[in-house]
Amino acid sequence: MSNPGQGSQGVAAPSAGPGWEYAAAPESREIATIAPAYGLFIGGEFVPAQDGRRFTTINPASEQPLSEIAAAGPADVDRAVRSARGAFDRVWGRMPGRERAKYLYRIARILQERAREFAVLESLDNGKPIRESRDVDVPLAAAHFFYHAGWADKLEYAGFGPSPRPLGVAGQVIPWNFPLLMAAWKLAPALAAGNTCVLKPAETTPLTALLLAEVCQQAGLPPGVVNVVTGAGDTGAALVAHPGVNKVAFTGSTEVGKQILRTVAGTGKKLTLELGGKAANVVFDDAPLDQAIEGIVTGIFFNQGHVCCAGSRLLVQESVADMVTERLKRRIGMLRLGDPLDKNTDIGAINSRQQLDKIRELSSAGDAEGAQRWSPPCELPDKGYWFPPTVFTGVSQSHRIAREEIFGPVLSLLTFRTPEEAVTKANNTPYGLSAGVWTEKGSRILWMAQRLRAGVVWANTYNRFDPASPFGGYRESGFGREGGRHGLEAYLSP
Ligand code: NDP
Repeated sequence: MSNPGQGSQGVAAPSAGPGWEYAAAPESREIATIAPAYGLFIGGEFVPAQDGRRFTTINPASEQPLSEIAAAGPADVDRAVRSARGAFDRVWGRMPGRERAKYLYRIARILQERAREFAVLESLDNGKPIRESRDVDVPLAAAHFFYHAGWADKLEYAGFGPSPRPLGVAGQVIPWNFPLLMAAWKLAPALAAGNTCVLKPAETTPLTALLLAEVCQQAGLPPGVVNVVTGAGDTGAALVAHPGVNKVAFTGSTEVGKQILRTVAGTGKKLTLELGGKAANVVFDDAPLDQAIEGIVTGIFFNQGHVCCAGSRLLVQESVADMVTERLKRRIGMLRLGDPLDKNTDIGAINSRQQLDKIRELSSAGDAEGAQRWSPPCELPDKGYWFPPTVFTGVSQSHRIAREEIFGPVLSLLTFRTPEEAVTKANNTPYGLSAGVWTEKGSRILWMAQRLRAGVVWANTYNRFDPASPFGGYRESGFGREGGRHGLEAYLSP
């Protein structure tokens, strides 16, 4: 494995000017500017938190600070919800869909125009490779606004009654793994349906949500239609508990999802939860193996494995298990880990110290329980949070690494003999978000898809997303769908 190291990706100390540029790779300099401090986005403008509290967001690849971010307290959340309510009552809730659509199109176009800026900022704040933020996160975020712009004036044909109505104010809490994309997944359908929004980004990745707020200003979105309250978990808790919120949409851990379920129970608020997963990626002996190897790698190492639908449990048919293991290791040895702003990087930084500790802890549990750990020779950068791509073989279903969501670049390999055994093992999880099937037989794909208890089943591919395709899980992976016609339902009442 080559390791280009961190090069000059570190972030320069803030200069005396009003804003400052990070000192990254030369081609990305001047692409994104980061202000020394950011306020909350409430009522169409950036304002400080009422009690003046702030926190620092850092670059996880270098541990250098990027900016100071306002931490919203209950009073700020209240102000944001009131602002959203006012905008709903005065303008957005009454605006014809064809007019709302124009704003959504405008946001989508601006996202495309400022795509490089968003991609660089996302990679700086999150640690993900620029190749992914450039080719996946940002284009998909724009696609979500385009897609939902198309729905805004056609809601009466969406199958939710002749004149579906918006719910009011949506309180939306998102995680750090796809900060911009998750913001788009939440905002676009809510706005298309005529709701106003208060969005709470994750503490470690607030920057692209704040840039998106700036895009809302640029698009001339009426003040208060979108509000962004940055802060930690307590800000999210205040938002979901606020009595002025009509709809709660959450993506994150199952644990916090359960807390939110308890908070919302009995309040009449509509709720969707998109939670964790422990997906099985099932490879049969008749699968096109070269493609399957690529799909396994994408399934677990895309975004450092910080993906709720990651194919973290690889189930390989016993007759090809040795061959798959060998080819997989050879392919993993070619992955490049290092500077997220280098276009050749495949694996970037782990998003936070806390997440790195969790990955280390679960991997150590794998060792202790008797699985065999393998990583390619790989020198990790000195600064920042890094974990090498890792495969555990000799894993049994009872091991923690086969049961718990690691949310990192760690794959657990198990084997099976028959399709029935594959289904039993794949479904042996409290989660139900996603699964993958690799086989050349169409009939077997359908047979498996009918039996796998997962919201999404990919066949001969993995981690494919499209705004027109509903995404979501059941059991401990949550409920409700995002994307497609089904995703609109969460934001409408008949
Ligand atoms: P969380 O579920 O804690 O975070 C998701 C979002 O919820 C963040 O914005 C967070 O704020 C906010 N939040 C935290 N506590 C509350 C609360 N009580 N009420 C309302 N909102 C709250 O995930 P973590 O970031 O802590 O990650 C922990 C684990 O969760 C990971 O290791 C991974 O296994 C899993 N995870 C799964 C995701 C998925 O998409 N399925 C996404 C992210 C994590 P803040 O960031 O400030 O804590």
